[in-house]
Amino acid sequence: MTVERDGRRPRAGRLPVSAVSSWPVWGMPRRVLAPVLLVELTALLLTVAPGVAGVLPRPTDLRTLAIVGLLGLAHTEVAVRVERQRRRVTEALHVDLTSVWTFAAALLLPPTLAALLAVVLQVHIWRRAWYPRVPLFRQLFSIATVVLACLAAGGVARSFAPGAFGQPPIGLAELESIGLALLTYAVVNSALVAGAILLSAPQQDVAGAIGGWDENLLEIATLCLGALTAIGLTISPYLTGFVLPALLLLHRAVLVRHLQEAADTDVKTGLLNAAAWHGRAEDEIRRAGERDGPGAVLVIDLDHFKRINDRHGHVAGDAVLAAVADALRSEIREHDLVGRFGGEEFVVLLAGSPDDTETAFFLVAERIRRRIRELSIEFTTADGVHGISGLSVSIGGAVHPLDGHDVRTLLHVADTALYAAKRAGRDTVHIGLQLPDQRARPGTMAPPAGEH
Ligand code: GH3
Ligand code: MG
Ligand code: MG
Repeated sequence: MTVERDGRRPRAGRLPVSAVSSWPVWGMPRRVLAPVLLVELTALLLTVAPGVAGVLPRPTDLRTLAIVGLLGLAHTEVAVRVERQRRRVTEALHVDLTSVWTFAAALLLPPTLAALLAVVLQVHIWRRAWYPRVPLFRQLFSIATVVLACLAAGGVARSFAPGAFGQPPIGLAELESIGLALLTYAVVNSALVAGAILLSAPQQDVAGAIGGWDENLLEIATLCLGALTAIGLTISPYLTGFVLPALLLLHRAVLVRHLQEAADTDVKTGLLNAAAWHGRAEDEIRRAGERDGPGAVLVIDLDHFKRINDRHGHVAGDAVLAAVADALRSEIREHDLVGRFGGEEFVVLLAGSPDDTETAFFLVAERIRRRIRELSIEFTTADGVHGISGLSVSIGGAVHPLDGHDVRTLLHVADTALYAAKRAGRDTVHIGLQLPDQRARPGTMAPPAGEH
C-alpha cells in the first residue's frame, strides 16, 4: 500500500501525487531508475511526435479506435474479478491479456492512436484490477513497455506491407507482416520487462527474468487473438464478437493454472509444499524405475533452528528459511525436486543416472551441507541491520533402487538416517542403506571421522 508523507494511507480513489518527493519511484536504485525513465520518456516522445508534426487521423481510424477501445474496456470489465484473483495468487511475471486489443490497434491504427489506446486500456485495467497491488511507478513502466511494443510492431507491419493492411483481402504478404509484427511485439515487450527485472534484481538469472514457457506461450496466444481481431475488423466489426468468448476462456484457464501453482507452493520459500513434492516425487520415481538408474531422497533439517527464532525473532527465522531454500535450489539440477517438508525441514529428490552410486548422492548431500555452512543472511529490524551465519544442517538420505520403492518408504529410511545424523552431533550427512524389507544391508553411510 502506498503511504502518504504523514504516514496515513491515501484515501480511496485518491493517488498521493502531491507528495512528489515521497514517491516510491525515487527509492529505486540509480542503475534501475535511469533506464526506466529513459524507456518512459522514449515512449512519450514517440507517441506525441506525429501529433506535433501535424499528422491528423482519418475518420476510419477514429472509428476503428472506438471499436477496439470499447471492446478492450468491455473485456476488462467482464474479466475484472478473474484478473484481481490472478494478481492475488501470483506475484510472478504477469502476461497482460489486453495485448489482444493493443496488438490489433498496432496493426490497424497510426502509431499515435495505437499508443493512446494502449495507455487508456492499461490505465483502466490498473485502476480496476491491479491498484494498489501494483504501485503507480511500476505501472507507468509497464505502460511504456506496451506502448513501445505497440509502436515497434506497427512499424514492422507497415514497413513489410506498406499501406495494404487494413483492407481485405489479406494476402500472404500481409500475413507475413503480421507474423513479424507479432514477434516484434513479444520480443520488445519481454526484453524491456526482463531488462528491468535483471537491473533491479541482479541475482535473478536471464531465464527467470524472461519467464517460463507457459508465460511466453500465453503472450503469443494473446497476440494471435489480437491478429485475428485485426483481420476480423477489416472484414466486419461484428466478427470481433467471436474473440471475446475465447479470450474470457483463456483468462479462466490462466487463473486455474495460477491457482494450481499457488496451491503447490510454500509461501515462505517459494518451494513445493509437502503435498505437491510428494505427488511429484511419486511420479518421478515411477518414471525413473523405467528409464534411469537409482535416485535418492534427502531430508535436510536445520540444526538448533529454535535458537535462531528465540535469539532473533521469527522474521529472521523466516529469512533463514528463504535463504536456505535459495541455496538448495541453486545446488540441485533442473530435474531434481526440492520442497519444504514442514517447519525447518526440506526434502530433495535427486534424479539418478545409471552411473550414480550411493557415494555420488552422499557427495551431493555433503555439497549442500557445506553450502549452507557458508550462508550469511542479513535482515533488518528497528535497531538496524543484523547478520546470521554459522548455520548448519543435518541430512538423512535414502537411495532408491531400480526395482522401485514408494516415496513413503524412502522418506522413512531418510528420516531414520537424519536422526542418526542428529545423534552423531549434527552438521553431518548419513545415507540410510537399510530399507525396512532389506535386512541384509544394515547400517548407514556416514562421513569419515574428522571430515567436518
Ligand atoms: P534440531 O537441531 O534438533 O533440529 O533442533 P531445532 O531447534 O532445529 O528443532 P525443533 O524441532 O526443536 O524446533 C524447530 C523450530 O522451528 C521450532 C519452530 O518454532 C520453528 N519453526 C517451524 N516453522 C517455522 C517457520 O515457518 N518460521 C520460523 N521462523 N520458525 C519456524
Ligand atoms: Mg525438525
Ligand atoms: Mg531442526
